[in-house]
Amino acid sequence: MTSVKDDGILVRDESFVKYERLLTKAEVEGRIDGPNKCLVCGMRYLSKREAENCCRTLP
Ligand SMILES: [Zn+2]
Repeated sequence: MTSVKDDGILVRDESFVKYERLLTKAEVEGRIDGPNKCLVCGMRYLSKREAENCCRTLP
């Protein structure tokens, strides 16, 4: 029995996968294409407060 490994086809860019996941999550939660945009990552939110808190860690 032989198994053929074809390198180069099933290579995934890990950061791209994470980005896709974030996008999907945002879409599901309905916080995509909102009028307010995070100034750091560009993610769109429905409320300005959400956009401001997106990439900011508050105590
Ligand atoms: Zn952000």
